[in-house]
Amino acid sequence: MTKEIATPSRTREIMDKHHLSFKKSLGQNFMLDGNILNKMVDATEVTAEDGVIEVGAGIGALTEKFAKRAKKVVAFEIDQRFIPVLADTLSAYDNIEVRHQDILQADLQELFTTTFKDVRHVIAAGNLPYYVTTPILMGFLERKLPIKSLTVMIQKEVSERLAAVPGTKAYGSLSIAAQYYAETEEIMTVPATVFMPRPNVDSTIIRFRIRNQPAVHVEDERLFFDVIKAAFAQRRKTLSNNLRQWLGKKTVQTDVHEVFHLAGIDGKRRAETLTLAEFATLADVLSNKGL
Ligand code: SAM
Repeated sequence: MTKEIATPSRTREIMDKHHLSFKKSLGQNFMLDGNILNKMVDATEVTAEDGVIEVGAGIGALTEKFAKRAKKVVAFEIDQRFIPVLADTLSAYDNIEVRHQDILQADLQELFTTTFKDVRHVIAAGNLPYYVTTPILMGFLERKLPIKSLTVMIQKEVSERLAAVPGTKAYGSLSIAAQYYAETEEIMTVPATVFMPRPNVDSTIIRFRIRNQPAVHVEDERLFFDVIKAAFAQRRKTLSNNLRQWLGKKTVQTDVHEVFHLAGIDGKRRAETLTLAEFATLADVLSNKGL
């Protein structure tokens, strides 16, 4: 049986065989530790009846792990150079479809009525390229795709922000957006030493279990996220200062004191202390005021 891809020697061998170098601009830091990838696959809770969407297949280190455990795998890779490599490294599997496409441009909805029409659940996963971590994550969450979970390897610092709770420095609009759509759980820290080439920072495997309903109900989702963005505009300022500045630019005139009074929230607090439910209340008060 062929040695797994996720080892330093096999990765080097594959790259040399195809005369390839790593493109930093595409976030190409390949995983060299098969045990960590096994733990990541375990965390996805994938079964033999499930479909997998993988972001950024590279030379197939994670793709082959999923192929062994899932019913079908659709692996996206933006770099044309890896398409023939993947055909070679993954030739032993007949349940993988490699797509040469930018994940941000892909019509993922279509997969659910075609490739994945006969699977039980679809899960998404990937060792994400650093330069587009947030757009990829938010793309999956905001598009409200019928996926069960999203399990990704990302920079530790971004993972901390995604999983942060109110009252901490890491808590901000990214934490709120992620937690609105999903239950977040940090699975494990991954040291920079197990990647080729080695990045400057450690990574974390984080899992998002997608909620059937968002964590809080809001009258107007767009307004909810606008309020959050405005509230965090200047972290050191109070909520009322940040919101006053934002509301001042609106055509509808609103009394900030009254808004906080109706919401039952002290305007002297800072945005980082508010829970999702409090932001929802604030947004609904503003929605009722015609914003
Ligand atoms: N899965 C492999 C592994 O774990 O070793 C490679 C992971 S590497 C961190 C990220 C991969 O994503 C690279 O192969 C890169 O070319 C690819 N990539 C970068 N941007 C992408 C995009 N927008 N859409 C799809 N793939 C992308």
